[in-house]
Amino acid sequence: MSVHRHSSGGEDGRHSVTAVFGIRQQSDPQALHAPVLVLNASYEPINICAARRAIVLVLKGVAMAEEEDGHLLHAARLALRVPSVIRLLEYRRIPHQTRALSRKNILLRDRNTCQYCGELLSASDLTLDHVVPRSRGGASTWENLVACCHPCNRRKGNQMPVEAGMKLMREPHAFNLHTSRHIMRLMGRSDDKWRKYLFY
Ligand SMILES: [Zn+2]
Repeated sequence: MSVHRHSSGGEDGRHSVTAVFGIRQQSDPQALHAPVLVLNASYEPINICAARRAIVLVLKGVAMAEEEDGHLLHAARLALRVPSVIRLLEYRRIPHQTRALSRKNILLRDRNTCQYCGELLSASDLTLDHVVPRSRGGASTWENLVACCHPCNRRKGNQMPVEAGMKLMREPHAFNLHTSRHIMRLMGRSDDKWRKYLFY
């Protein structure tokens, strides 16, 4: 990402991206939500984040842009291109443990797809379903939570899938490094700028 400062002084990295780009962001709201591939200092792909977060990391001097996506953001004293791939400047050891259990990570693992009917939906149209209902002692774990659309969630209610005549598309597992690599590759397949970092 090229950062052109129109005047010196000030620590732009300390401002939030929304504050710096508040006005123009309205004209292209998708640009800041676009997925950005995050590479370790070693060029190993380690994560995907939203462009907004990637810009903050670059402005803070934590990462540098390796590839840009063509969108130019303007602000009073600053113009920069939205990155498509960023690389951390300092190597981070990535623990080979599972990721935090969160709604966001469950939806990412299930690729925003209802695990009962297979419909691909936006995050706001999905909920989390306890496969074994909480009322029957079902825990909030990677293995018992799946992405689910609202109609399927209502239909299942407090039943076991088999009682509701429903079947999971796949057994839910913890989100490990292997899963995230797989997802990064799926997402990168259509993006030439990601491809060279993901397929080697
Ligand atoms: Zn569904």
